Amino acid sequence: MRIAEVRTHLLEHRLDTAFESASMRFDKRVHLLVEIICEDGTTGWGECLGPAGPNAATVAAYAGWLRGMNALEHERIWATLYNALRDQGQRGITVTALSGIDIALWDIKGKAYGQPVSVLLGGRWRESVRAYATGSFKRDGVDRVADNAEECGGHARAGFHAVKIKIGFGVEEDLRLIEAVRDAIGPGTRLMIDANHGYDTIEAITLGQRAAKYGIDWFEEPVVPEQLAAYRKVRAGQPIPVAGGETWHTRWGFAEPLASGCVDIAQPDLCGVGGFTEAKRVADLCTHHGVRLVPHVWGTAVQIAAALQFMAAMVPNPVRQSPVEPIMEFDRTHNPFRQAVVTTPLEHDSGVVRIPDAPGLGIEIDRDALARFAPEAEA
Ligand SMILES: [Mg+2]
Repeated sequence: MRIAEVRTHLLEHRLDTAFESASMRFDKRVHLLVEIICEDGTTGWGECLGPAGPNAATVAAYAGWLRGMNALEHERIWATLYNALRDQGQRGITVTALSGIDIALWDIKGKAYGQPVSVLLGGRWRESVRAYATGSFKRDGVDRVADNAEECGGHARAGFHAVKIKIGFGVEEDLRLIEAVRDAIGPGTRLMIDANHGYDTIEAITLGQRAAKYGIDWFEEPVVPEQLAAYRKVRAGQPIPVAGGETWHTRWGFAEPLASGCVDIAQPDLCGVGGFTEAKRVADLCTHHGVRLVPHVWGTAVQIAAALQFMAAMVPNPVRQSPVEPIMEFDRTHNPFRQAVVTTPLEHDSGVVRIPDAPGLGIEIDRDALARFAPEAEA
């Protein structure tokens, strides 16, 4: 299974209405898919989290090492590529680019052995997962509190058992939002808050203390990801479980936060942490430290497929008669190519997503959609 070619596919759509998290503004959706083609014609697909242009340039840089290697030797390839840029890499784009490559290699491996990736990772514990709805960004030109409350009420009515809302814009307004959303979704729907590292330590502790009465399952990225001591202060200073990790990369990026008690819930992103190969190691670290794992998901159906395969294989921790089941992040913001890139969309049914059981990631790419959402097609 010699690798013959490595391609990237940039997808872009300019939004009619821009939206914001506490730390980023989105006026267009841009994602990057990776395609690896073997000499025998077998093709694997992956996706990279983060800025598509820099990811594409870094995948292109890795391609020189990849060509001619055996696509089935995922550990050898991971270590070779990581080592190639280690001295100036270790985290960031070098790892997000490597993540997309690693996912494509596992897709190839699954196709080569006729098995879904979840079986190759160790086995399928479940055939479906409950999803939670992520939305409620701050949209231009509308009242944020009323807009988010209406949106989240819709997610609850669509069958989602949980919704996650965006905060980090200011403690008082965020508290009004949390109260309005709790009213809109009712007491039976679970609620999580995500500050996208928009607070400092004092704000995060104040918000957490005052928001706890609304019944919050977790408080995500309260402070910037480099501030591990601040994470520990927030966790000790307010009662809501703390989540984080979508911007921590590799086993080394997770080791200290997990060992030093920064989070109750770790959120590695398959397309950012280093692909399946590295996410498995992070999952093992989480088991070691007694930390719950809920993958971060923010991408196309390729990423959704990767997350589903990974979640199928997540070992319950602890194994028991009625284990805590993992839940799947389901982005509800506008993205016309999210599901269009695959021939069979990976949609939810009343908040439940079925896990594909076809070989590899279990998806087929719609190449017409790739052409339709290429940047030059929309220009
Ligand atoms: Mg987040």
